[in-house]
Amino acid sequence: MEIDVQKTRQYYQFLKKEDLCSCDYCMNFYQKAKSAFPETAKWLDSHGIDIEKPFETLPIEVDRNHVEYISAQYIAFGACEESFELDIGESRISFAHSHPDTGIEEQHFVLEFFPQGMQSSLNFMGSQDDEVFIRHLYNQMKSNSKLGGSFEIVGSSCIFWKLSEQYQVTIEREYLGVDRISGKFPPRNLIHWHPEDEDMYQKICNLGTKGNVTVIYKPFDLSLMLYSGPRDQCKYRRKWLGGRFYYLYAEEG
Ligand SMILES: [Zn+2]
Repeated sequence: MEIDVQKTRQYYQFLKKEDLCSCDYCMNFYQKAKSAFPETAKWLDSHGIDIEKPFETLPIEVDRNHVEYISAQYIAFGACEESFELDIGESRISFAHSHPDTGIEEQHFVLEFFPQGMQSSLNFMGSQDDEVFIRHLYNQMKSNSKLGGSFEIVGSSCIFWKLSEQYQVTIEREYLGVDRISGKFPPRNLIHWHPEDEDMYQKICNLGTKGNVTVIYKPFDLSLMLYSGPRDQCKYRRKWLGGRFYYLYAEEG
């Protein structure tokens, strides 16, 4: 790993708390990370990284008052081999293979740490669980410039996403539904899923990353998703599909 410590430290000094996700899960992490993971904080700091300013956290709720953080990700400047991995007792630090778009042009990479054992569970005083979940998801979506369409939070815990002229998506906790919009008729539900919290964001990215397609087969009351992902890897061609197939295309631009 050849991290540019000076440049990285400068980045974290200039990074304001307001630039970070403001959902309750992340706020809880910012407040408690340093004392919960002292060795990790020290290691990160020696490389210019501020543990209280993660690029991304992956929280899951174990019960009402406990959130476990599966991992936290940090931007670093310089270069790092993809196999980088370091065990420091309370956590494992490694090169992050998968993360949202950072929007940074200069040479950089993303490190992540996985808390090991008990430390991962931080006390959390939350009451409006679904609201927090949706708020965090919304912030994740907003910081991903590769998602197509436009979306907003409606009510307290629902994201309404207009993906294209023909399709809209409704997101609630444990619910992800796709509707077909057609002129004079009310929107018609094509398919829906009940994703686990930790799978939700990935499903959203599959559906809505610009250039991706999702193919749905809906004979009668049944709905099947045949494919969801990059268009060039999709074996179904739009022109071959008959009337009971739906082809969602997250258009670019
Ligand atoms: Zn958050």
